[in-house]
Amino acid sequence: MCIIKNLANNFFQPLRNHFKLPIKINSFFRCKELNDAIGGSKYSDHMVNDDVAAIDIDDTYSKEYGIYNRHIFDHIAHNMEYYKLIYEYEDKLTPGGLQSPKWIHISYSTDPIKNKQKTTLYTNGNGYKPFKLDII
Ligand SMILES: [Zn+2]
Repeated sequence: MCIIKNLANNFFQPLRNHFKLPIKINSFFRCKELNDAIGGSKYSDHMVNDDVAAIDIDDTYSKEYGIYNRHIFDHIAHNMEYYKLIYEYEDKLTPGGLQSPKWIHISYSTDPIKNKQKTTLYTNGNGYKPFKLDII
């Protein structure tokens, strides 16, 4: 199956089905020229590498219904499979006082074994650190 369609059908659609709300896609596939132009990482999964595609999502639409990036991130981390999940930068606290990322990056593979790895990372612009699932 197409690597991009795999992410849309097997990751993003189930996520939408769970929240039953519009979830904004900030970035999905990027050709090399676009990735370079916006300063994306040299080996960004957004350019589709081997069997992995990537998507960035945020709460621009869903927060009107009380669903913030933090809620989306927690749901993914605890209930879904993925190759990589990245908590991208710190946003303002949610109205409930929770830390929340500015956006969420997900890399998703056509290989189900890879998606069981669930590598979860945090970045604030200085490289990537492991995100501790037990603290959220
Ligand atoms: Zn991304």
